[in-house]
Amino acid sequence: MMQQYLKLKAQHPEEFLFYRMGDFYELFFDDAKRASQLLDITLTKRGVAEGEPIPMAGMPYHSVEGYLVRLVQLGESAAICEQIGDPTTSKGPVDRQVVRIITPGTVSDEALLNERIDNLLAAIYAQGDHFGYVTLDITSGRFVLIEPATEEEMAAELQRTHPAELLYPENFNNLALLESCKSSRRRPLWEFDVDTAKQQLNQQFSTRDLIGLGVEECTLGLAAAGCLMQYIKNTQRTALPHIRALVKEHKDQSVILDAATRRNLELTQNLSGGLENTLAAVLDKTITAMGSRLLKRWLHQPIRNFTVVNERLNAITALKKTGLYVDLTNALRPVGDMERILARLALRSARPRDMARLRNGLQQLPEIEALLDALSDSALEPLKKASSPMPVLTTLLEEAVVEAPPVVIRDGGVIAPGYNAELDEWRALADGATCYLDELEKRERNRHDIDTLKIGFNQVHGFFIQVSRGQSHLVPPHYVRRQTLKNAERYIIPELKEYEDKVLNSKSKALAIEKKLWEGLFDQLLPHLETLQHIADALSTLDVLSNLAERAETLHYCRPTLTDNRGINIAGGRHPVVEQVLDAPFIANSTVLHPRRRILIITGPNMGGKSTYMRQTTLITLLAHIGSYVPAESVTLGPVDRIFTRIGASDDLASGRSTFMVEMTETANILHNATKNSLVLMDEIGRGTSTYDGLSLAWASVEWLAKRLKSMTLFATHYFELTELSNQIDGLVNVHLDVVEHGDEVAFMHSVQEGAASKSYGLAVAGLAGVPKTVIQRAKNKLRQLEESMHDIVTGEHTTQATTQLSLLPELSNIEKELAKIEPDNLTPRQALDVLYMLKTLC
Ligand code: ADP
Repeated sequence: MMQQYLKLKAQHPEEFLFYRMGDFYELFFDDAKRASQLLDITLTKRGVAEGEPIPMAGMPYHSVEGYLVRLVQLGESAAICEQIGDPTTSKGPVDRQVVRIITPGTVSDEALLNERIDNLLAAIYAQGDHFGYVTLDITSGRFVLIEPATEEEMAAELQRTHPAELLYPENFNNLALLESCKSSRRRPLWEFDVDTAKQQLNQQFSTRDLIGLGVEECTLGLAAAGCLMQYIKNTQRTALPHIRALVKEHKDQSVILDAATRRNLELTQNLSGGLENTLAAVLDKTITAMGSRLLKRWLHQPIRNFTVVNERLNAITALKKTGLYVDLTNALRPVGDMERILARLALRSARPRDMARLRNGLQQLPEIEALLDALSDSALEPLKKASSPMPVLTTLLEEAVVEAPPVVIRDGGVIAPGYNAELDEWRALADGATCYLDELEKRERNRHDIDTLKIGFNQVHGFFIQVSRGQSHLVPPHYVRRQTLKNAERYIIPELKEYEDKVLNSKSKALAIEKKLWEGLFDQLLPHLETLQHIADALSTLDVLSNLAERAETLHYCRPTLTDNRGINIAGGRHPVVEQVLDAPFIANSTVLHPRRRILIITGPNMGGKSTYMRQTTLITLLAHIGSYVPAESVTLGPVDRIFTRIGASDDLASGRSTFMVEMTETANILHNATKNSLVLMDEIGRGTSTYDGLSLAWASVEWLAKRLKSMTLFATHYFELTELSNQIDGLVNVHLDVVEHGDEVAFMHSVQEGAASKSYGLAVAGLAGVPKTVIQRAKNKLRQLEESMHDIVTGEHTTQATTQLSLLPELSNIEKELAKIEPDNLTPRQALDVLYMLKTLC
């Protein structure tokens, strides 16, 4: 057995080999040691190898799924090895085979996947600075190629797609890129051969060349695609009919977001890696898991083509205006995750409940069609067409599968009664639900005139004819005695024996027929796979559109207007996430940017709302580009090609970069790549270095953005010197966040006003935060000194105005001043008493 194990293990060196032994899966040697740590299972021993006991760890077969989930989440893979032969008949160890390989990027089992998040397998290939990158969602068949031209773009793609598993060639040397992926696997170089890749892909798509797909020339992407195809074939070991094309994504189709921007905007993940307080958390009330995944893809890929955006907006408007999104949402509820069900259908790994859910989904189509008919809006016409009912398949599934099937086909009970006469017959026999026995009993009783004759059954002897002892002399000679009881004799006759065999066999017969019919169901459904996938796509899209209509209605969003004129004009804009988490009312603010007002220098106190304001402008722009309504009173937007943000960097310790380094890397990226149609957010650059360094860098960056790049820019800064630039550069405007002073207190109004803030409130905020008063007082004195000696870089004049700190904190009182003078250790008791009297007079 160990020889068999080692042979199988040699074929799967990288995976944990789950070796089936009776009712257990066992792991041996190093697999056992690692698994016992990772999964917290007991490490035991079995037999010896080379004089040493063999480490072993295992779990009962029925609880294996839970362990697999944990392994996959840890980025590990597993090969499942089952007994193929029959243990009762085979000599030596039972035949075993690896029947499925589970890796983080190729799982399709429902139990192993997070249903509301895409699970992607990816492959990367590099040549110099250029990259080829493909991703495959095995649960939908979406297979996408992209060729990033720089490392920065590549990083952004990895951040966007966030693959569960990443394949890379053995000579890949940009290890920093791989760090973001929990599970990356080195593959031999030959798997990245372009010619083999083309051959494989043509075979998969049944095409002669890849020109039609527009990827024939993408050699870098194809190299990656080839490796991915081989990997998927090795692990899945079955046809993959639902992967039908390789789609090239062009970067000019979408508004580009770099890796830092994606992170900063907290689209689907917050800065600490959680899901709460993200844009998706506010917007995603989709009813199906596939809808939820689609919405997140949309959020990560705002599109530039206004025609597509307007189609989405038209559809949302129609659903919102008529209130039909409510009915549509209800109609979509039973649909479930049709997309992933279809993938399991394609892989022939669908479970009975998948079929039942597919049936439930298909049953909804007529109602959905009727709803869309009632709406009769051209915006929804394509979706209506794509989700037309499939009466034949619906009936097939209705007739074939019981209402609530068991989890697995193994024990039968899945195929509905009435679907197949032969199955019904065997099942009837198996259940003994037949009058055959009654008839036999009656017939034998009459024929031999034995009125005590009865037919019975027990586990040991099977069926028997029982006759009372008093009448046993009446039984005919062909009755064979089986058992003698006190008052009765039990017999068997050939006819009853035959019946018995039939009953005992009928269970396994019924099961065999059921399994055949089950496989047949796949054969009947698979030719319609493509149509079914289109239905699933259409239903996910309807789910997302209804969801966005509902959100627009509930959260009071407005429809953005998209134009060809450059600029962003937001009236009464709100931050979609902050407005949800605030207890207080959110203060709406407007943003106006156009070629003659390109840069806003935003000043105001900490906590005034600068970051919120800048992010809300960006999120509104982004939401408009996914075709959603937006949190504002009215919005008009021109074209936007990229969004950049540089917001509060944190130390990127993992890659050994300090805060300042991260900040400057992000700044460099912006200054190299922004165009006049880009929206740039800069929050406090130059903080991580000395004041003059920082100010000079911020200054030069603003100039570059304003004069050279002419990007639409929101630039928040605590360097008041920058507000001077409005006198020097056309298109640069100051705005500030308003603060009201009330006695000792500052009240943040969170409202954006034109002009520069007149004061900085750093010391006031420090006071509010509880920094000791004496420290604040000292800081104030120091500030005054600094201001007096500071040379204004802008005008060459001395300035006290621009950097004046507001005197919000009260001067020390006389009592406090006197107290500060006292040195208790140097006082005589008499002096102490005098001081007390003196202090008392100051009260
Ligand atoms: P800054 O970047 O100026 O330090 P933030 O944008 O981080 O300030 O805002 C600080 C806090 O003020 C936010 O967490 C939020 O609670 C509140 N806030 C900001 N903007 C608004 C607004 N427009 N309306 C209401 N509260 C706001």
